[in-house]
This record gives sequence, structure tokens and C-alpha cells, in this order.
Amino acid sequence: MARCLVTGGAGFIGSHLTERLLELGHEVIVLDNLSTGRQENLSHVTGNPRLSIRNGSITDPVLLSETTVGVDVIYHLAAAVGVKLVADDPVRTIETNIYPTEVLLRSAATARQRVFLASTSEVYGKNPKERWTEEDDLHFGPTSRPRWAYGCSKAIDEFLALAYHRKFGLPVVIGRFFNVVGPRQVGHYGMVIPRFVDQALQGGPVVVYDDGEQVRCFAHVKEVVNAIIRLVETPAAQGLVYNIGSDAAVSIRQLAQEIIQRVDPRIRIQYLAYREAYGDDFEDVRRRVPVVSRLESTIGYKPSMTLGEILDDIIRWKREQRDAGRRS
Ligand code: UDP
Repeated sequence: MARCLVTGGAGFIGSHLTERLLELGHEVIVLDNLSTGRQENLSHVTGNPRLSIRNGSITDPVLLSETTVGVDVIYHLAAAVGVKLVADDPVRTIETNIYPTEVLLRSAATARQRVFLASTSEVYGKNPKERWTEEDDLHFGPTSRPRWAYGCSKAIDEFLALAYHRKFGLPVVIGRFFNVVGPRQVGHYGMVIPRFVDQALQGGPVVVYDDGEQVRCFAHVKEVVNAIIRLVETPAAQGLVYNIGSDAAVSIRQLAQEIIQRVDPRIRIQYLAYREAYGDDFEDVRRRVPVVSRLESTIGYKPSMTLGEILDDIIRWKREQRDAGRRS
């Protein structure tokens, strides 16, 4: 049994990770300021005696260093995430994503704690390659476009983590998430699947930005958290960056159609210009597909649930939420 700290543990991915760690018999401390995370994400496990929840921000260095004392593994997931949030508040993105990571890495290096650093496929920016491997170049747009602040902030975190690994031998693993989805993900910050499912359950239309030919790969959060835990438990993964996600590509238009087929085939798609959705200074990433062979060869596993299985699970959860809301 290990004592684990999960920063951002009340968030979408963090809460699934917390639940899984508890299932495996570990002790978990969650540090979350509930800005984008939600208390109810942990409602299934709040009574667990091996879980403690600290309500506070990773931007508070005193709280952060107090919370790390005596911990064996730190899963650092707390961050300003979501393209919409980042576009709306670039100052918060930079302040939340950079300085606290440095504080945490420094103390982990001193205490010799293992660290998982959550990063993002946004670090590849708009690299035009068909499929991205971990050693590919980062292609950011101009600093006048706030979207790139997110990927840049996480790239700095990665540089810091790798530097602490090289200089101080910090046992850190970096995971770049590719469109992780599943129950508990909310659509307020721009995430496409919960938005489409909500729109479909309300009778439509489903609002696709631009022409819908943008391409993404969606991975179920349960498979992703298993991959994270295995990476942390694999010494050969230390000091490396991993793409974590599915490599099954789908266009956003196909995604909308799959959801419509499952909810009500009469629902129509409405196309909306990026400018109207995000404002003038927005740039999308047209194609985002990972190569996940490094992950597969290290842990013998990659996310493999089909899009259909993933959508069924999310639609089921959304319907349950809606029905519970009607009853209360
Ligand atoms: N998207 C869309 N309608 C929405 C939200 C997103 O068509 O209501 C598109 C968006 O333009 C992008 C894709 O879906 O091309 C994935 O968007 P998301 O914000 O989920 O993730 P990311 O852009 O970070 O991959």
C-alpha cells in the first residue's frame, strides 16, 4: 500500500484515479480547490477511511508543501484545463500551471517521492503530422492567441520535470492525455462529447464547429487511469514522456452522427463558425492522433474501448444524471 497525493483529485480524471487507487488498497489524499473539480465527483468514496480531502489551491505553497509530507507518490493533475477556460482566462492558466508544478517537483526531489505529471496533447500544438510520437516537434501558434498558452504552460512543466529527473534523479513520469472522456466530464469548458450528448438529450441540434472535419481520438477515463497507475509502478518509465489515449481516429462530424444515432436519429447537426463559438483570436487543432506504441511496449496495454462503447457509457451516465435531477 502506498500513500498517494492526487492534486486535482476532485476533477474529472482525478476523481476516477482516486477511486481506482482506493480500490487497489492505497491511501489517498486529495488536494483540490473545487474550481473546476466538484465534491460530488468523490461522493462514492467520501466515507472511505483511506481517503482524506484537503480543500485548497496548489497555488498556496505552504499548503502544498504541508500536503506532500509523508507521501510516497504524487499524481499531479491539478491544472487550468479546457480550451474554453484557457481562452477565457489565460492569466489563471499560466499561474496555475507553472509555478505550483515547480514547487511540487522541487519538494518531491528532496523527499524522493515518485511523481506522475499530467500533461496534454496540446503540447504538440498544431503539428501537421498525421500521428504524433513523443519525440515530435511542438508547433505553437503566436502568443497573441491565448489557446497556445495552455500547451506552452504544460510544455514548461515537462521541461521542469525532465530537468529534475536529470539533475536530481527525480522518479517522474509524464503523461500527455489525448481527449480523455467518460462519466463526470462536464461540457462547460468546451469538452465536445458532454456538450454533444447534452444537446442530443435535449432534442438537438448538435452544434459542430466549422466543417466537422477536425479529427480526434477519444479514450475512456477508466482505461486512462489504469495506464497512469501502471506507468508509475514501472521503473523503466521514469524520466520519459508518454502519449496516453486511444489511437482510433474519428472526425467531429462522425462523432456527432454516432451520438445522434444512439439518442434520436431525427436530431440535426448545426454548423457554427469558430469565430462565433470562441471569438476572433481562436485557432483549432485540425487533427490530433497519437502513436501509443511507447505506452504499449512499457506497460503492455493501451486504451482500446471502441467509440461506441465509450459513448454508450457516457449517454447512460448523462441519462441517470438527468433522471436523478428530475426526481430531486
Ligand atoms: N467542438 C465542437 N462543438 C463543441 C465543442 C467542440 O464541434 O461544442 C469541436 C472543437 O472545435 C474541436 C473538437 O470538437 O475540434 C474537440 O474539442 P474539445 O474542446 O473537446 O477538445 P480539444 O479541442 O482540446 O481536442
